[in-house]
Amino acid sequence: MRRSRNAKIVATLGPASSEPEVIRRLFLAGADVFRLNFSHGLAQDHRRRFDLLRRLEQETGRPIGIMADLQGPKLRVGTFAGGPVSLQAGAAFRLDLDAAPGDIRRASLPHPEVFQALKPGDELLLDDGKLRLAVEDCGSGFAATRVLVGGVLSDRKGVNVPGALLPISALTAKDRGDLELALELGADWVALSFVQRPEDVAEARALIGERAGIVVKLEKPSALDQLEAIVALADAAMVARGDLGVELPAERVPAIQKRIVRTCRQLGKPVIVATQMLESMIAAPVPTRAEASDVATAVYDGADAVMLSAESAAGLYPAEAVSMMDRIIQQVEQDPFYRQAIDASHSGSAPGSSVADVVCCATRRAVSLLRVAAVVCYTSSGKTCLRAARERPEAPILSLTPRREVARRLALAWGVHALQIQDVRDVDEMTLRAVACARDEGFARPGQLVAVVAGMPFGRAGTTNLLRIAAVEPEPAAPVSR
Ligand code: PGA
Ligand code: MN
Repeated sequence: MRRSRNAKIVATLGPASSEPEVIRRLFLAGADVFRLNFSHGLAQDHRRRFDLLRRLEQETGRPIGIMADLQGPKLRVGTFAGGPVSLQAGAAFRLDLDAAPGDIRRASLPHPEVFQALKPGDELLLDDGKLRLAVEDCGSGFAATRVLVGGVLSDRKGVNVPGALLPISALTAKDRGDLELALELGADWVALSFVQRPEDVAEARALIGERAGIVVKLEKPSALDQLEAIVALADAAMVARGDLGVELPAERVPAIQKRIVRTCRQLGKPVIVATQMLESMIAAPVPTRAEASDVATAVYDGADAVMLSAESAAGLYPAEAVSMMDRIIQQVEQDPFYRQAIDASHSGSAPGSSVADVVCCATRRAVSLLRVAAVVCYTSSGKTCLRAARERPEAPILSLTPRREVARRLALAWGVHALQIQDVRDVDEMTLRAVACARDEGFARPGQLVAVVAGMPFGRAGTTNLLRIAAVEPEPAAPVSR
């Protein structure tokens, strides 16, 4: 079973998509990676969805990527004694460490680190940016603010502090517990929310090691100041437009999206564009034209994957949203301008390139000059395959790996169809197996060419040094029985 597109689809599971038949429908409609959102739901919910996904994988024989998305240090106000309060512009409002329920004059903000980082003039955004407060005075446990934009504030609403680099880790106590569960279950990817600096990634890496790939969610202005360093330490990135568009004005999000996608492509790390992609499909069976165009733009930009959040987790039309994305991606990829845009956005190999980079660059040239039907990539860590994907060749990439966890992780990568196979011993076996896999999986027909990328000695990571072009032989005639 193969997809007829290169860009991938990440679908978030939630209350609307927890039954085996629904998850199965999402997969058949095109979901390549499933996201478990640890901001919502109980451990038992995530465990159950995880088991259903692994069962589905067994049933379909296709590797499925599973991403555990940790909530991160999402700041929230406390509760209110008399229900929601309505803050008026111009009024004074105080935030402090007092756990007592709030009222129209004050609320609890149980995060001492925030008060340490605040200074007069900073702005606080409440409830996804709907309310704005300006800090006038602050100390080690309080902030006296003036309401700039008023509105209704209720229990446990989110707080964003866009300007400040907060002295808090990207992993809270809850995240550490959730991470333990995710690793115990065997998640392929772990997503870190509100990453601010490279040290946040290093801290997570020390806990995760290579047991899962790390996705950095880019949603803080401070992360953009060190974008290259952060992405270099991670295994993949997400343009988390929900919080990003609260921390920064919405009009800045499009250019930032393009910058992040470009940076990730340069560094060869898969990148996901996320949030509100088909938002209206939470309640309607078709998207707005603007949403269809937004998904298409991410694909033209060269993103590895586009993501569904509430559309698939809590909407009325989860499978329809996936198949809508699938169709939009296919349409974009058939547009001749798409190929131009993808080629123009990559500079190719530059001085300082590795042998593997050059082999992959040569592979892309071979594919377009010889009309090669498929690139077959032997990979033990997945790195060779990601390098090949970075080149965005015109033919699909069949990735052969002996490691099941690598095949699963590669479900996120542009153009990659991963298969788990046993190690090969020599170049002849390598070529025969590659050609047979390409033919059997429906990627190449007799008479067509395949490009085989591998490293010798076989089975050792980081040795990519070989490109072989081979023809698919006609099927041997069946022996005639007399
Ligand atoms: P979230 O992340 O849905 O976990 O907040 C995505 C985003 O902020 O866009
Ligand atoms: Mn977010």
